[in-house]
Amino acid sequence: MPVITNTAEIRRQNRSRIYKFIYETGGKTCKKEIADSLFLSLPTVSQNLQEMFDEGLICYSGTKASTGGRKARTISINESAGYAVGISITDDEVSFTAVDLKAQEIANTAVQMRFSDSNAYFCNVNNCLVSFLKTIPGDADKLIGVAITLPGIVNPQTQMLEFAPTLGIRNKEISGISECFSYPVQIFNDADARGYAEFWKHNQENMAYLSISRGVGGAIFCAGKCYYGDHFRSGEFGHICVHNNGRMCDCGKKGCLEAYCSTQRISDDFHMELKEFFRCMSEGNQKMILFWSDYLEHLAIGIATIRNVLDCQIVLGGSVSDYMSPYMAELREKVLQHSPFDEDTDFLKLGNCNASSACYGAALYNITEYIEGV
Ligand SMILES: [Zn+2]
Repeated sequence: MPVITNTAEIRRQNRSRIYKFIYETGGKTCKKEIADSLFLSLPTVSQNLQEMFDEGLICYSGTKASTGGRKARTISINESAGYAVGISITDDEVSFTAVDLKAQEIANTAVQMRFSDSNAYFCNVNNCLVSFLKTIPGDADKLIGVAITLPGIVNPQTQMLEFAPTLGIRNKEISGISECFSYPVQIFNDADARGYAEFWKHNQENMAYLSISRGVGGAIFCAGKCYYGDHFRSGEFGHICVHNNGRMCDCGKKGCLEAYCSTQRISDDFHMELKEFFRCMSEGNQKMILFWSDYLEHLAIGIATIRNVLDCQIVLGGSVSDYMSPYMAELREKVLQHSPFDEDTDFLKLGNCNASSACYGAALYNITEYIEGV
């Protein structure tokens, strides 16, 4: 640990610690409790609180239960002091979400728009963003950031969108996208953002997020942060081999989890949407029941492999997870058969963020950065 000698830095850290403490205690703390918990003097806490009151960052939220004397006033962060916007781009739709400082969704909308890799398309998305911002109550200057998610590998070091198969993009400079926007934007991978939304809700130190939709992917969170890997390809769970020399995968290899568990497999084999498939199966279609058993078996091998490698909670998300609830017992049984160290499958959870969680998670990146920076 470096020795801190800089007074300004100590003041900054005290302010940040006080704000985060108020944030984490959810509006139930008071001045004395802050001082006691953070080992700070009352004058130091008072001064910092006054500054943050003046800046509109915090507010009084009520009173503590009386312990005999005057009731202490409780303090909360002011969730309306800022908001962040997340935009999710897919091949046929653009979704927008605005999130306040308490991670509450304050506005959302979706626009059907066929993707094209052109300036005209991204400028059109920007026009939709500008219209969306006008629907958000409060000051426009409280916007703290805009983050965009795309279904592709984003390399923040080279600032390249390296590969986005469903959008037909290879090696596109991110500046080619950001220059079409009226606000500074950051670009993220969609599975990372959905995983971040789950990570925020599950409040775990370590977590793997397995997303099953048309693509199978995910994200890894380690010690409270996203683990990207040396080449930003971490969490590519879709290409774990679950069947030696098995079905052909889009990546060119055989037997990948994605080749077995992508929703594409359901639409290819049965020519129907997920909702229809699960309805027919629940009505007793034998061919589908057999298919589903094989599907769950391969999914279980993938989940057990992730568990063996990462030894952490695994959250299942993506479009399939919306239908998974009735089949979790069967899935858990199969996972246990492939998991040598576990006696139960409490580590496996169903995601509780909805389909729009990519833009929600993207907005949370900026909320986190803001809270860290107060
Ligand atoms: Zn593959």
